Order: sequence, then structure tokens, then C-alpha cells
Amino acid sequence: MKKQFGEAGPPLGRPGLQIFPEIFKYIECKVGRFILLVFLLLILCIWLVVRIASASRSNLLIHFLPVGQGDSELIVLPGGATVLIDGGPPTLDAVRALDAALPSGVRSIDIVVMTHPQLDHFGGLIDVAKRYKIGAFVSNGLSSDQASFRELKKALEDRRVQQITFGAGDSIRYASNTLIALAPSLNPESVKNQNDAVLVFELLAKNTKALFMSDATSDVEDMVEKTAGRVDVLKISHHGSKFSSSETFLKTTLPKFAFIEVGKNSYGHPTPQVLTRLGEIGARVFRTDRDGFITVRSDGTMLSVLK
Ligand SMILES: [Zn+2]
Repeated sequence: MKKQFGEAGPPLGRPGLQIFPEIFKYIECKVGRFILLVFLLLILCIWLVVRIASASRSNLLIHFLPVGQGDSELIVLPGGATVLIDGGPPTLDAVRALDAALPSGVRSIDIVVMTHPQLDHFGGLIDVAKRYKIGAFVSNGLSSDQASFRELKKALEDRRVQQITFGAGDSIRYASNTLIALAPSLNPESVKNQNDAVLVFELLAKNTKALFMSDATSDVEDMVEKTAGRVDVLKISHHGSKFSSSETFLKTTLPKFAFIEVGKNSYGHPTPQVLTRLGEIGARVFRTDRDGFITVRSDGTMLSVLK
């Protein structure tokens, strides 16, 4: 019978022997198993990466940035929202520390806080504002006639960053985490000493209470200590000045961990008086001048300090 175009011919060998089909089936089976295995391994890897990433994103992180004689703290709330409190003096230290603290490629900070317009707190924010996309800028509303303060304001205005004035009672909320301003309760324009009008924040997240005292005077401490009560983490006021961190304040707040942000200075910070008072309440003390970059991590049950 004449073969027609496109008609299948018999397989090699005896009809029905199915040599090639069997070999292909065998190869298909091996390749199929291999592909399946690779696929399952890939799924497992993705699952592990997602689990690790979501576990680390669910932690609370507080980074104390080594910016010399000045303050700068980066809070990473569970879920990933970021709040930067102050930026240290006008150097690139804060930017460098932020680059190290934030995941690579992240060039945004949700909220930047300036506790008061003194150079050792806002100087580094100029470069932060130029380099990072900022969601909102929070301050106590005071300004300064320093040229670098005008530079900061210009950088914020050029980038159309929303600027918000905070006072006692105002808060930042993200899921079940809150940052509440406990001070200033006075009109900042009415004070003679700027340190009486600083923004003080209480953070409540992951079963952890932290107080960020900026350069608060002991008068401010008197006002906030009853509201705050006992805390886990205390950012010591005014780089360890003897005029802050009063005995009463430290005995009321009884921090487990105390952090002093300090660098080379001519004021004698941190003062022996404050170090002695901290020793008396049994707080574990960390200092950015000695310990460098310090991180507090809480997963809700364990609070640990990494340096
Ligand atoms: Zn200061």
C-alpha cells in the first residue's frame, strides 16, 4: 500500500516493540523527577526566605547611630516602618550609619523627627534630607537663625516634605505600635532654655517600652516620669549631662538598658555623676563613643542588645 504524506510509519524494530517510546518515557521520567525536585527545592527556599524575612520584619529594632557628640536614633517598627529621631552634627556619620542600618537599596525614611533645632541634633539631617525620600518631618515647631538650619528647611521644602509640629499628646501610630510625644507640654516659644522644649517620645512596641529623652532638662524629666513609669530602654538625656538623668527620674523609670549618645567633647559628657546614678539602679549602660553602632532588638519575648 502506498504511503501517504504525513502518515506515521512503523517504529524501528518490530511493530509494537515501542523501543523509542520506552526510552523517551524513561528519559521523561528522570527529567521530570529532576525538574520536580528542583521545583520543590525552589519552593522550599522561597518559603524559608519569606519566613526569615517576615520573622525579621516582625521584630522591633532600635539603632543608636554613632554620630559623635550628638543624637541620632533609627527606630524600625514591626512591619518595617522607619522613624529617625535626630541626625547628629553636620557630618555624613548619620547617612553612613543609615546606609548600614537600612536594607540595601532602601532610600526612604517614613518619618524624620527633629527634637529641637540645635546643631548636634539637626546638622546631619541636611544630608539625610538630600539623600533619602522622607515621608514627613516632625518637629517642636521652633526654628533657628543658623545658616545650616535654613539649609535643612530649604532641602525639605525643595523636596516638598510635609512638615508637622508636635507637642505632648501627639502620636505616631503604625499597626499596634505607638510613639507618643510626652513633651513639650509648654509652648516652645515661651521657654528660655531650648532643652525645656525638646520633643520626648515614648515608644510602645513588641512588649517593649522605650523613652527617647533628647536633651531634656530635669524639669522636663519631672513632667514625663509619672506618665512614663518603668521602661525597658532609656536614651539618656543630653549626652550624660549631670543636669539631667536625676536620681528621682532614674529611680522612677528604672531602665534595664541605658544608652548614652556621646562623642569627643569639652563638657565632660558623660558625667561621672550620671554614670554613678545609672550604676546605682543597676542599668546596663551602652555608649556610642565606646560601643559604636548599637542595636536593640525585641521579638516580643526577648529583648537583646547587639553591638
Ligand atoms: Zn544635644
